[in-house]
Amino acid sequence: MTFHSAAEAASLFARLRIDAPGGDLDSCSPIDGARIGSVRTASAADVDAAVERAHVAYLAWRSVPPPRRGELVRLFGVVLREEKEALGHLVSLETGKILQEGLGEVQEMIDICDFAVGLSRQLYGLTIATERPGHRMMETWHPLGVVGVISAFNFPVAVWAWNACLAFVCGDAVVWKPSEKTPLTAVAVQALFERAVARFGDAPADLSQVVQGGRESGVALVDHAKVALLSATGSTRMGREVAPRVAERFGRTLLELGGNNGMVVAPTADLALAERAITFAAVGTAGQRCTTLRRLFVHGDVYDRLVPRLRQIWASVAVGNPLEEGTLVGPLIDRGSFEAMQAALGRARDEGGTVQGGERLHAELSDGAYYVRPAIVEMPGQTPVTLTETFAPILYVMRYAALDEAIAAHNDAPQGLASSIFTNDIREAETFLSAAGSDCGIVNVNIGPSGAEIGGAFGGEKETGGGRESGSDAWRTYMRRATNTINYSRDLPLAQGINFNMP
Ligand code: NAD
Repeated sequence: MTFHSAAEAASLFARLRIDAPGGDLDSCSPIDGARIGSVRTASAADVDAAVERAHVAYLAWRSVPPPRRGELVRLFGVVLREEKEALGHLVSLETGKILQEGLGEVQEMIDICDFAVGLSRQLYGLTIATERPGHRMMETWHPLGVVGVISAFNFPVAVWAWNACLAFVCGDAVVWKPSEKTPLTAVAVQALFERAVARFGDAPADLSQVVQGGRESGVALVDHAKVALLSATGSTRMGREVAPRVAERFGRTLLELGGNNGMVVAPTADLALAERAITFAAVGTAGQRCTTLRRLFVHGDVYDRLVPRLRQIWASVAVGNPLEEGTLVGPLIDRGSFEAMQAALGRARDEGGTVQGGERLHAELSDGAYYVRPAIVEMPGQTPVTLTETFAPILYVMRYAALDEAIAAHNDAPQGLASSIFTNDIREAETFLSAAGSDCGIVNVNIGPSGAEIGGAFGGEKETGGGRESGSDAWRTYMRRATNTINYSRDLPLAQGINFNMP
């Protein structure tokens, strides 16, 4: 494989008609480890100024009727449709995910645009029965303010869109701190959004801004008193730092943190279907999805049919350049990720696991590119390493005898993002979906835990942070609720029948 990522990046920027930026923060493609561009790190003062500008934009935008706000998002969706191919390519180049997934990520942006446009005519509140005659009680929803978005490297554009498209129709302004590992895709998205703004005509300036950099730039956003909602996607470690800081100033957080997702394969499972779902969920995106399948609980009746077959698949899965057709597994994001994977496999061995795979591939290509054979690890049971999220393609496989035992083991993980069961037994499926079943935010039957559609609320419980974004009623997080009581009578009855005498 010979590949020139820097030339590829330059040609994509040209195709997108965007000036390549420059600065002190390098972006390297995980495909060959080469530098493909750079951006300028925002100082704390830059972040402060961006939030102040965003606040001014919000003050104007909040009074624009929501369906008109939706028109801007509709136009953005049109621009994304025009540029899907080039932007999807850039996502693959900067993250190392396969092209199908890069394009899928841009499609997800388009889908959330469509969703948000519809939503712009449905920001409804309730009318509530009141105990007082001649009164009316209702809820109204108003724009919230500036939304700060901090995103992870693995979904460098979709996560911003999930947040921003809802925030814009809700009447908010957005300041985005993308991952320091994927700054160029953020530059491209911002430029495409500005193209939509130009077509729209009269949007306030600075409705959407990007501040680049690592932890320090993020902290400046986290601590800013005018960031009404801080939506942070990344590791649980990051969430532990961010959540108390925002709480300190009584700001709101929307946390989308680490996952450690499980699947139960029951005796009646359609194994051909399960095999396919397990493969994509465990090795897709090189195991670097928050919803990646990491723990597989297989019933003893089907273990010896399913697991040897998975071992075969793992041994032959195509690992290589993610831009080439036929590749299923691209590179890990960087050396740190490779080292974390090796350390986890070492721990798994120490804890009684039998490891297949995990070795580095294509090392001759470049010192800076880390391709690995996905690892499948048969474990004697759940151990500390299986309860830890290692952001790499490692699937821990465990045998179970009774469903209750499998559900209890599944729920033992400190994280609570995504889960699934493969079964054709309706009792088992419903048990898994019930209050006594999986404790995750996403609970599926006969499909894998990853690959959510935008129509549902996305997020998870426990150490995953409890946030919900994207579909359903996630929009409410981006607005503030006012309860209104209106008296149209000639009396002033008090609630709870309280009487008082005026002096
Ligand atoms: P990370 O936590 O290293 O970084 C995420 C973002 O947080 C980056 O932009 C980073 O600069 C910023 N950041 C880090 N520390 C910060 C701090 N103290 N204050 C402010 N900002 C800070 O995560 P990553 O390696 O980019 O992504 C992988 C992790 O993200 C995994 O744990 C994965 O499960 C999780 N993730 C979760 C979801 C979800 O929806 N639940 C989605 C994608 C990724």
